[in-house]
Amino acid sequence: MKLKYIILIFIFCHQNILSQDPKKITDQFFPDLDIHVPTPALSKKKGFTNYRELLFFLDELKNKNPSLFNYKFIGKSQKGKEIPMVFIGDSSKKNIKICYMAGLHGNEPASTEGILLLMHNLLNEDSLSGLLKHINLAIIPMANIDGYEKQSRYAANGQDLNRDQTKLSNPEMNAIKKAINHFSPEVMVDFHEYKPYRVDFVKFGEYGTTSMYDCMFLYSGNLNVCPLIKETIEDKFLPIAQNELDIYDLKYHNYLSSKHNNNKIYFNLGSVSPRSSATSFALSNCISMLMEIRGVGLNRTSFKRRIFTTYLLAQSFLKTANSENIYVKRQIRSCSNFPDEIVVKYNKEKTPYQLDMIDVYNQKIIPVDIVLYNGLKCEKVQTRKRPKYYIIEKDLSIVADKLSTLGLDIDTLKFDELLEVESYNIISQSESPTLFQGFYENIVTAQIENKNLVFEKGTFIVPMNQRRSNLAVETLEPEMLSGFLRFNVIQPDDISKIHRYVLNKEL
Ligand SMILES: [Zn+2]
Repeated sequence: MKLKYIILIFIFCHQNILSQDPKKITDQFFPDLDIHVPTPALSKKKGFTNYRELLFFLDELKNKNPSLFNYKFIGKSQKGKEIPMVFIGDSSKKNIKICYMAGLHGNEPASTEGILLLMHNLLNEDSLSGLLKHINLAIIPMANIDGYEKQSRYAANGQDLNRDQTKLSNPEMNAIKKAINHFSPEVMVDFHEYKPYRVDFVKFGEYGTTSMYDCMFLYSGNLNVCPLIKETIEDKFLPIAQNELDIYDLKYHNYLSSKHNNNKIYFNLGSVSPRSSATSFALSNCISMLMEIRGVGLNRTSFKRRIFTTYLLAQSFLKTANSENIYVKRQIRSCSNFPDEIVVKYNKEKTPYQLDMIDVYNQKIIPVDIVLYNGLKCEKVQTRKRPKYYIIEKDLSIVADKLSTLGLDIDTLKFDELLEVESYNIISQSESPTLFQGFYENIVTAQIENKNLVFEKGTFIVPMNQRRSNLAVETLEPEMLSGFLRFNVIQPDDISKIHRYVLNKEL
C-alpha cells in the first residue's frame, strides 16, 4: 500500500512527463473537438506557437485588416524580445474598452492559442465582426515570451510574473502595467491554464482524483475592491458565459486552489491578493477576471477543446461588455464613491464543502469533502479610516515611481507645509520563514500616531479620490500582504516616511 502511494505521488509530482490524462479519462470526460483552428501551433504536429510565428500571424492579420487591426511593442522581455500588444476596433470611437492578456505563465498555451483564434474570428466571422463597431479591444497575446518559448511558467530570471503585480521587479510586468493603464480598460481578463493533477489530490478517491472542470472563474473578494465589481461579474458576465459553456457541455466552477499545511489540505476560493492580476486590476476599478482552463501538464491532449474553451469565454465577455456597456460604465463610475474606511486585516469564511472530482482509478465523478477558505466571503478584522491623501517623503521616490507605474496620478507639494498627519509606528516585526520570489517578506504590525510635521516642497502626495486609489491602500499600508513593505520595495525603517492625511481639506 505504502509503495503504491509513493509511486502515485511520484507520478503526480512529475506530471509533465507521466501524469497527463490517461486515454480513458480524455475519451470519457474531455474528448477533443473536431474544429478548425487556424493558429500557428495547429498547423504543426507538435509544440506551440513560437515568437516568430506569433509575429508572422499578427502581421498577416494586420495586412488583411489595416483599418481594424494594429499592434505595437510595449517593452522587452528579459531576453530582449519585444512584447506585442494588439489593438482591434476603431480607436477614434468612445467604445467600451476591453483588455485581454494571455501567456503570462509560459506553460499555459491554450491561453495564447485561444486568444489568437479570437483575433482571427473577430476579423473573419460575420457573427462577430459586428461587435467591432461597439468595442475597443487590446490584447497582450504572449505576455511572458521568454517563458513561453521554453514552455516554462516563469520568466527568464525564474520569477513568477503573476506574483509581481505590486512589487513590479520584472521588466515585463512594468511594461504590461504601463501599457494596460494607458489603454485604461473597463473590462480586463487574464487567461491562464490550471494544473488538473495536484499532489494534494492523491489522498482523495481510490488512488487519487483529478479536476473535472474545463474552466474555472477567478475574481476578487478583496474587501478594498469596490463591491460593484464582483456584483457585475456575478450578475452579468458569469451567467452569460456559463450559458455558452452549457451549450457545449463544458464544465465550470469558481476557481479553487489547494494548499497543504501541517499535513492538512485546504482549498482557497476566489482571489484576495493584489500580487496577482485578478485583484490587482479590480483594485484599479475595472471589471477584472482571471480564467483558468484545465490544461497545465497536458501538452497537446484535448488541445482544441482547451483553445475553444478559452475562445468561447473571450467572445462571450466581449458580447456581454457590448450588451451591458452602459451598465458596466455606470458601475465603474459608482465605484468612485469610496467608502470611509479601508480594511487592513480580514478573515476568509471557513466552511466544509463538497467538491466533485474525477476518481482517476474508477473514472467516475465522486464527491470529495474538503475545507474551503472562501475568499469571496471575507470578514473585516481590522480597519482604518480611509485617508484623503497619502503623503510620501521626497527620498522615497521609488514608492512614487511604482505607484505611477500602477496607474496612479501623483502630485507634489508646491511649498514647504506644516501638516497634521497620521504616521505609522511599527510595534512588531519579523521575516517570513521561507523565501518568496527570492526574498523574505517583512511581516509587521503598526500603530497610528498623530503628528504635526513640516513637509518640504516636492513631497509626493497621492490623492485618494482617483480611480486606482485602492491600489495605494493595498501597497502603502504596512501590514498589507502584497504591500511595498511586505515585498521589500521599502524596508521597515522607511515606513516612517509614509504618512496619512485624514483631514477633510484639499492639499
Ligand atoms: Zn497561470
